[in-house]
Amino acid sequence: MSKSIYFDMDGTLADLYAVENWLPKLRASDPSPYAEAVPMLNLRILARYLNRLQEMGYRIGVVSWLSKGSDTNYDELVRIRKLRWLAEHLGSVDWDEIHLVKYGRPKHYVVKDKAGILFDDNAEVRESWRGEAYNEKEILSILKELLV
Ligand SMILES: [Mg+2]
Repeated sequence: MSKSIYFDMDGTLADLYAVENWLPKLRASDPSPYAEAVPMLNLRILARYLNRLQEMGYRIGVVSWLSKGSDTNYDELVRIRKLRWLAEHLGSVDWDEIHLVKYGRPKHYVVKDKAGILFDDNAEVRESWRGEAYNEKEILSILKELLV
């Protein structure tokens, strides 16, 4: 089985926590911070690396939680914003898997390759992950190593 690489979104690819008043807005079921979040890293370089890794046989995926304490209606609004964010900012990446799941759901439950590599800003998520896990600052350097 080929190796998989998964990305969290909030705090890893998208700078949700830098959006002004992101927390009160999320608590008020306002999905706009998910749309407004700016990229955490140079996504043009990331997209190029991901395209090359996919050509080498890696599978590429997203595994991201929806908002904490949300209802089904807000989950759907957030899901739409997150998919739109990926299309807008990483449109050239042909994701093999995208999982946008309930807040707190263990990420290895939902992905196809539980031994894959995960990039996630949340230390607890990294600790409970079954494969290799790295924080958001390590994305480009680790991917670069995989390319050689
Ligand atoms: Mg996160």
